[in-house]
Amino acid sequence: MKQKKQIAVLGSTGSIGTQTLDVVRQHPDLFEARILTAGVNADKLIEQAREFVPDAVVIADESKYDGVQQALEDLPIKVYAGKQALNDVVTLPSIDIVVAALVGFAGLEPTVNAIKAHKIIALANKETLVVAGELMTRLALEYHAPMIPVDSEHSAIFQSLVGEDGNSIEKILLTASGGPFRNSTMAELASVTPAQALAHPNWNMGAKITIDSATMMNKGFEMIEAKWLFGVKPSDIEIVVHPESLIHSAVQFSDGAIKAQLAMPDMRIPIQYALSFPDRLPLSVERLDLFRFNKMTFTKPDFEKFRCLALAFRAIEQGGNMPCAMNAANEVANLAFRNGRIGFLQIPEIIERVMEQTVFSNEATLEAYIECDRASRLLAESII
Ligand code: NDP
Repeated sequence: MKQKKQIAVLGSTGSIGTQTLDVVRQHPDLFEARILTAGVNADKLIEQAREFVPDAVVIADESKYDGVQQALEDLPIKVYAGKQALNDVVTLPSIDIVVAALVGFAGLEPTVNAIKAHKIIALANKETLVVAGELMTRLALEYHAPMIPVDSEHSAIFQSLVGEDGNSIEKILLTASGGPFRNSTMAELASVTPAQALAHPNWNMGAKITIDSATMMNKGFEMIEAKWLFGVKPSDIEIVVHPESLIHSAVQFSDGAIKAQLAMPDMRIPIQYALSFPDRLPLSVERLDLFRFNKMTFTKPDFEKFRCLALAFRAIEQGGNMPCAMNAANEVANLAFRNGRIGFLQIPEIIERVMEQTVFSNEATLEAYIECDRASRLLAESII
């Protein structure tokens, strides 16, 4: 790589965003953070902006604009606020790669805009593909905007597919840690607290995805994400519970050979690969010592205990707006659980009821998804 890659980090204050900046920090000669964006965390955005001196920052919460603007007054950084600004900054000509690391549906519009502006998308924000996989993959082809996965499982699949052009995939082995409640009984699940669900055994992530991992909705989302990214049928994706999280996923080919990617669970590896692809760069992270971690186990997931997983298969089989309705209901239920308004087992109940009451539509447009998301959120709230 010769020229520095110019990067926009959507959601720079989050878990993926801060780790992306750590990768940029490790390679100042190769990467430059030109756009940083936050939702509400003005202090962190200011701190990051003072370190990286990007061209522009966006704070989605407009009430924080003045504070950010004043704190960065002495630097040549443009400060914007609001949703529309997020949609606009991704199209700036100076940007090569947009790291989509917002959480949830909020990331859809900016990511679609980045695709239309022909940017390379380093995609962490899996909900965008869950909701609008058909639209996003179609636009990515039309606008020649490569989507490179950041999610560790999809990065592992992507890495396993390098050099396999034209060779068909027989099966994807999508690994799952199983989350903190892998061995819990239904009775125990009924009384799970947000604090227990927020304590993931292997990964340190944002709050929303940590709860999604505990319900295994996250794995359902990843199955849908894999379908769209790699063009496989859901029935060709096998979920493998692998609590050690060392094999990050694998691909089985038509000759029975399986290729996998292994490493210590550290998101900076897939983040860096998405930025440096097709090159590999040095990275200062812990190395996997197979003599220390000399035991790997694999089991099938329990679809009855983790009903969100079954709902995700149902949603993608039905297609159309169903995954969008499921995602919206999950966002509302996930937050309601974190706020102590509902119990852990009510999360799949609410999602299922929203899906049952959603009128099927096959319209794959941004406007249709925005409307479905809005209506499904209202429905989920009314059920709660
Ligand atoms: P976090 O909650 O840690 O960070 C989310 C980021 O998005 C923050 O910068 C936040 O800003 C910003 N944000 C949130 N809501 C809005 C909004 N409405 N408008 C504008 N900005 C907003 O999430 P993660 O980093 O954990 O996850 C990001 C995405 O990556 C998710 O889709 C997740 O599923 C996916 N992912 C995450 C992994 C991980 O290890 N964390 C692994 C694989 C995928 P602020 O902090 O200021 O509120």
